[in-house]
Amino acid sequence: MNYLIIGNGAAGITAAETIRQHDPRGQITILSAEPSLMYSRPGLAYVISGEIPPQQVIARTREWYADLRLELVYGRAQSLDVYNRLVMLADGRVLPYHKLLIATGARAVPAPYPGNDLDGVVYLDTLEGTKELLKKARRGQRGVVIGGGITALEMVEGLTQRGVNTHYFLRRDRLWSQVFNEAESRLLAEKMHHHGVHIHTNTEAAEILGNWRHNVRAVRLQNGKEFKCNLFGVAIGVKPQLELVKNTPIQTDRAILVNEQMQSNVPDVYAAGDCAQVYDRWSGQHLLDVLWPSAIAEGRTAALNMVGQTTPYVKGIPFNACLLFGLHITIIGQISPDPKAKDDFAEIQHLSRGSSEVWFTFPRHYQSAWAKSGPHTLRLALGGGNGNGREGHGRTIVGALIMGEQTLADPLRTLIENQVDASPLLPYLQSDRETLGREIKNLSLSVIRNP
Ligand SMILES: Cc1cc2nc3c(=O)[nH]c(=O)nc-3n(C[C@H](O)[C@H](O)[C@H](O)COP(=O)(O)OP(=O)(O)OC[C@H]3O[C@@H](n4cnc5c(N)ncnc54)[C@H](O)[C@@H]3O)c2cc1C
Repeated sequence: MNYLIIGNGAAGITAAETIRQHDPRGQITILSAEPSLMYSRPGLAYVISGEIPPQQVIARTREWYADLRLELVYGRAQSLDVYNRLVMLADGRVLPYHKLLIATGARAVPAPYPGNDLDGVVYLDTLEGTKELLKKARRGQRGVVIGGGITALEMVEGLTQRGVNTHYFLRRDRLWSQVFNEAESRLLAEKMHHHGVHIHTNTEAAEILGNWRHNVRAVRLQNGKEFKCNLFGVAIGVKPQLELVKNTPIQTDRAILVNEQMQSNVPDVYAAGDCAQVYDRWSGQHLLDVLWPSAIAEGRTAALNMVGQTTPYVKGIPFNACLLFGLHITIIGQISPDPKAKDDFAEIQHLSRGSSEVWFTFPRHYQSAWAKSGPHTLRLALGGGNGNGREGHGRTIVGALIMGEQTLADPLRTLIENQVDASPLLPYLQSDRETLGREIKNLSLSVIRNP
């Protein structure tokens, strides 16, 4: 059997590993448009902040590919002939396949203004792009960052740590507005101010201006004013890479539509990771999940089906932990700042890196419970019945956002994942942090003790 995997990222590599576990003799080829070995894309945030050198994000060695007899081919797939089972590369080579996995991921959306091709317009997206960004981010420079999600925040933090005088433009007045409510945004903003970041709310760029050398020299704002800068960081969302499936019968919506076995509508063509939109039986919709753990789980499921099993993708509870300006933030399950608010930024943002549409799919019953003390906050989203929209008895916690102290992250994950009846917690929702925390821990311990 000849397996061809387009994409050397989390989904592609997990699929290759899983296929090898189940098919010791099959030929496995991985095609990569980027010139490196597999690397951790989330790790790029730590590269820009200087916490690790670029080579430390490399997650697989050459020997690892050799040991598993995975043939890594560098080249860009340009088109697909699904009738003759061929993939055509940009350099003219042609690769045949019996089973194909498309795991091409998503790429940053370019700045939607004139001047977006100037030298000094940077993205935190690929390893090569991050190295370019680092070359340009020199101490004493003045940088502007746009974008409403986590990647923008990571870029702001990284540039600040590199000594760039960083200005963060927000179209509205809240940080990471698809996830944070006002109080959470304020808490992070305080930390950012403390680190010297200048936050400009209700500020929107209209054009990036260059000098005679084609370098960024300023931004023209929507109000007509000019704002001097020599670096312009863009993190306004990501777009699944779908060029390859254009002019093929493979069905797409915002990404490649796949069923629970990660199969597209074309026989023996599968998709996984950021470029796939997976059928979710609970919501009855195809959802996009641009999260690292989801890419891994989808890659594994695709592989199991490619080797002949019939294994459905079981969507895990979305989980993301990050550290921004010294503040630990964990987001679990379904959480949204305001269930009624429709964020107009979403139009341009498509989907923010490391986020999940599940975060924005509101539970039927939503109520936030606050436990706030000092720099720590906890917000819970409560659903009626069992999680995932299924009706049942009692109330469940369907999502949580924890800022600051993280001791409740694991207990809450247990309660959310196991769809535990959270009724015993209801009397404590407005209690102080210690009391509510104790009850949450006790309830989660009871689940662990009596699974
Ligand atoms: C800065 C940053 C921070 C992040 N932080 C988090 C986080 O905290 N938590 C989290 O859950 N997620 C995070 N993410 C998102 C996470 O990295 C992605 O969800 C994950 O990498 C998706 O994996 P993938 O395999 O689908 O795609 P990718 O990792 O994008 O891999 C795609 C692969 O396909 C190759 N490719 C693309 N097109 C072609 C082609 N035509 N021909 C050949 N090869 C091709 C690429 O070269 C690449 O090897 C972050 C992402 C970034 C950029």
